[in-house]
Amino acid sequence: MCELVWFRHDLRVAEQPALNAALRSSQEVVGLVIVDRIQWKAHGWGIPCMTWYTDTVRALADQLAAMGIVLRVEIATTCKSQCTIVSEVAQDMKAKCVHVGRQAGFDERRRDQNIKRELSDVGIKLVEHTTESILPVELIRSKSDLPYSVYTPFRRAWDAQLSQVGLPDLDKAHASATPIASPQVPYIDLGEATWSHTAWCAGTASALERLNTFLQGPIDHYHTNRDRPDLNGTSTLSPWLAVGAISPVMCLRPLVERYGLDPEQWPDGPRVWRQELVWREFYRHVMMTRDKVSQNQPMQDWTEKLEWRSDADALNAWTNGQTGFDIIDAAMIQLRELGWMHNRLRMVTAMFLTKNLMVDWRLGELHFSKHLIDYDFASNNGGWQWAASTGTDAAPYFRIFNPESQAEKFDPDRQYQAQWLNGHSRPTQIVDLKTTRAFAIQAFKSAKAGATESDN
Ligand code: FAD
Repeated sequence: MCELVWFRHDLRVAEQPALNAALRSSQEVVGLVIVDRIQWKAHGWGIPCMTWYTDTVRALADQLAAMGIVLRVEIATTCKSQCTIVSEVAQDMKAKCVHVGRQAGFDERRRDQNIKRELSDVGIKLVEHTTESILPVELIRSKSDLPYSVYTPFRRAWDAQLSQVGLPDLDKAHASATPIASPQVPYIDLGEATWSHTAWCAGTASALERLNTFLQGPIDHYHTNRDRPDLNGTSTLSPWLAVGAISPVMCLRPLVERYGLDPEQWPDGPRVWRQELVWREFYRHVMMTRDKVSQNQPMQDWTEKLEWRSDADALNAWTNGQTGFDIIDAAMIQLRELGWMHNRLRMVTAMFLTKNLMVDWRLGELHFSKHLIDYDFASNNGGWQWAASTGTDAAPYFRIFNPESQAEKFDPDRQYQAQWLNGHSRPTQIVDLKTTRAFAIQAFKSAKAGATESDN
């Protein structure tokens, strides 16, 4: 009997627990990907990440073909939901089991529960695996058996668990005897102009190349260089991690082999990089344990009382890189042109929008989702709620970055700003940093006081 592997955000064959489990159970394995433009749009995906996802599906089809495995690519429509497709394909293939990676989103979790029930009615099992994170983060709990709200204690618990269980065994998928011809992946109509940039090449091979380059040098200086957008000090692996062309386990394994499991024994660069991978796990943990994240709500209830400014001109100036603040505009232009932005500048631009312009973080979150090639709901929401001071473990509202001093500190020779502003007109600054900072602090103070009063 056949086993079906439904790939979602784990589009790879290497270190793929769902695929490996299927291959252990049967000689006959079929892959499935469902392209669901309706859901992608509902979840805010823009053309860069849709294009990136479909390019990665093509790379996956080739990798599977080399193992003798067919990948079926099905298109969901208003008349044919993901649920119906999985059920039909599984029955059509006479599958005994459907293997999937567990997903963090509320809709995705609910969908999988429904599919599990439907499949079980026809005698097919849905088996979930951990394919998108290093540990099954939904199971990490505090001593009082509660999910974590703050990163540092979560990281300690995560480190302790990793020391206990270790990384999953290196489980190489067993290749079938005869590779098949690479399949023709059906044309996936994204309905709008396509997007591409030569900086990004889809698939596991390019991700591994980038990982190896990073591990051979830049990682040793990561702790000092990671905040410098002018220095290429980070791995830039986020696009591949977002679709699962590479897994966080694959990123961590070479370091665990070098330095062991205890992070205290690691040199600073690799240790700090590991901590960033744990931020990714933390935001997945938050998303899996609090439905509010998927429901457009702030984690801090009192911030519902904030009076965000409805200012279309300010929002437009921000999205188009026309605020007159060089570091903000350079970063927003980088986002549009490259589909990616350095982490320090994601924080600086998000804080500028939500504090100096007092525009609702959800509008910024949506703009990022439309333009980021590495769009990841959990990390994007986590980052936005951090910057807007509405999140579980957020920047305090009175600690507001000054974009000009951030630029002096992290782009001291203006190299980064010159690179992205080159050829762009420069407007005058749209706000005064000092007055808008004071206004934001007062607005947050009043919202907090208002919420406390109405609670009493
Ligand atoms: P590195 O510094 O090399 O880190 C390695 C990996 O760790 C990253 O690829 C990423 O998967 C993870 N990571 C690093 N920093 C963070 C972080 N702060 N939170 C969660 N994971 C992290 N990341 C996304 O992948 N997708 C998003 O949509 C996204 N939106 C963001 C929005 C805002 C407002 C902010 C402040 C951050 C956002 N991030 C997002 C997190 C972070 O900015 C990117 O992961 C990082 O810039 C990617 O660059 P890199 O691959 O070179 O990271």
